[in-house]
Amino acid sequence: MTELIYYQDQYKTEIEAKVTKVEGNKILLDKTIFIPQTNTEPGDFGKVNDVKIAGSKKEADNVWHIIPQYNPFKVGDKVKLTLDWKYRLNIMRLHSALHLLAGVFDSKFKERAVAGVVKPKNAYLVFKHEISDEIINQAIERANMDIKSGIEIKTYPDKKRKGFRWCVVKDYPPIPCGGLHVKNAKEIEEIVLINKEGEKITIAVK
Ligand SMILES: [Zn+2]
Repeated sequence: MTELIYYQDQYKTEIEAKVTKVEGNKILLDKTIFIPQTNTEPGDFGKVNDVKIAGSKKEADNVWHIIPQYNPFKVGDKVKLTLDWKYRLNIMRLHSALHLLAGVFDSKFKERAVAGVVKPKNAYLVFKHEISDEIINQAIERANMDIKSGIEIKTYPDKKRKGFRWCVVKDYPPIPCGGLHVKNAKEIEEIVLINKEGEKITIAVK
């Protein structure tokens, strides 16, 4: 089992860990700061000692770290993990922006997004139907006001379902989410609209 340090402290950029299993180009560690990739979010990058990982992958309670070429690690090795923080922070800001905006659409305009996806440079929400430009602009304006006022973004584990987590922004409806977020909306800085393609709204952060 891998201890998921990224849920305890999403700002941790370095830790020491121990190699507990080696399989081909993958290694298992007793703990990690690298969140694995999912269908809706890119995973972390960084280094194990001096070796750049090609990502990480979750399997049951374990997080495997992918070593792109020659795998120098052995079971029992003590290693240092260093997160690519610039990349991670940007993803956390985009991800949090998406939650905030979805919350505004839902609670102020009764428009509930059916999907949200975070990419390395932008993020998008998908609705059941096309939203008018006027509502989009108003929603982004409101979300940017929340950012300026410095509202908190909180996450917590579900009490009954193991491994299942929630994210709540302001008094907007909580959203089930296993991703990583900034603690305060101020860190998002500003949401900007990239484009609208039918039901899909793509945003970025400044
Ligand atoms: Zn989230």
